Amino acid sequence: MTENRVVQGRMVTPESLAEMIEGESVMDAESIADADRECPDCGGDVLEVGYMPSVTAFVTGWKCTECDWSETDRE
Ligand SMILES: [Zn+2]
Repeated sequence: MTENRVVQGRMVTPESLAEMIEGESVMDAESIADADRECPDCGGDVLEVGYMPSVTAFVTGWKCTECDWSETDRE
């Protein structure tokens, strides 16, 4: 089992995927999982990653593997 996935042609780790979603560096990230959903923009595969943008916050983020679409569960 590998932690690394390909997103938009680039190899990503949990941390770098979280940083693509967040737009800045994150404290920590969990393993990347396949989300049970399709990208609403292009229908591509969506990856899910839980991460901590700061020590007091935990966010679940989703990122399309094919285009720029991403989303978080942040209010
Ligand atoms: Zn997409």
